[in-house]
Amino acid sequence: MIELQHITQRYPTPEGGVFYALNDVSLSIKAGEIFGIIGRSGAGKSTLVRCINFLNRPTEGIVVIDGKCLNTMSEAELRAARRKIGMIFQHFNLLSSRTVFENAAFPLELVGMDKAAIKAKVDPLLELVGLTEHRNKYPAQLSGGQKQRVGIARALANDPEVLLSDEATSALDPETTVATLELLKRINQELKLTIVMITHQMDVVKQICDRVAVMNKGIVVEEGSVIDVFRRPKSETTQALIGNIMAQQLPASMVERVREQIAAFKDSEPSHILRLTFVGQEVTRPIISEASRIYNINFNILLGQIDEVQGKSFGTLTVLTSCSNDVFMSLMDYLRRHNVTVEEVTSNVL
Ligand code: ADP
Repeated sequence: MIELQHITQRYPTPEGGVFYALNDVSLSIKAGEIFGIIGRSGAGKSTLVRCINFLNRPTEGIVVIDGKCLNTMSEAELRAARRKIGMIFQHFNLLSSRTVFENAAFPLELVGMDKAAIKAKVDPLLELVGLTEHRNKYPAQLSGGQKQRVGIARALANDPEVLLSDEATSALDPETTVATLELLKRINQELKLTIVMITHQMDVVKQICDRVAVMNKGIVVEEGSVIDVFRRPKSETTQALIGNIMAQQLPASMVERVREQIAAFKDSEPSHILRLTFVGQEVTRPIISEASRIYNINFNILLGQIDEVQGKSFGTLTVLTSCSNDVFMSLMDYLRRHNVTVEEVTSNVL
């Protein structure tokens, strides 16, 4: 649905140099998926999303939406193409002098639709986003979540194929964020809409995105299915972003105790601290207790967390064990055969 090929956005710097807000970004976003673009502030996310609808004409690179290349379009063609790309924003961008209904109707007035047709279009949209009873209120009378739902209804008015969301939940409290994301997921499924979510919050990606691209300094540093990126974050940027919700390292308070335990093992077999990562549906056996029985070893669970990613349970366990090298090799093989990702983290924490 969206092809970005070698997108570069350069700006001149005050010193006479060149700044790359985007540097050779290529992404391919499939029809019907929810694609996350995550990165810290300044990574280039907003610049990239503005390139998708050519609000920002990239210095270099090609944008193709639903098979049509934006680069070669006339202004009139671009305006028509943009109508098929809805957009929602962090600060909602509603017109304060217009009611909920009038805000949602605005894009249809712009294209000259008559009143009856507008009503026939907007009424079901307000129903869809749960705002029917608030239709005659003004933005100042609404909560943040309700304002964003007006933004969503307005973005859907022209029957877009693509919805771009630029930090749309960043100004909302956690509960309202969850509800707004659930609404976007429902819209994605019911309307078969392709959604691009720009965000700096890994929680947003975790809750609704199918695939994700991680950006840093104008470059896509990592891309893949959300589960894979969570399971094996390759870049430091991703690890830091995931680290906020998935403990990657042992808390400092625990390190001292672990050192003591390892010292106690000293004369026996080598000790290992392992970080096990697993997706619930893929691991159907009681792996830890089974491995403990098979190899006659003990596991001391240091840290554990189960979270939900794309509706699947996703867990990490950090365990300490002590065993001979032969047993260790067999254990690693056993865990991997049962779809558990294993990393030895000893060197990172001690
Ligand atoms: P993000 O959305 O990830 O926070 P942006 O895309 O807004 O990042 O910005 C990326 C970088 O590009 C920032 O360093 C920003 O200052 C710079 N930038 C954005 N727009 C312009 C512009 N018009 N002129 C110069 N620099 C810009």
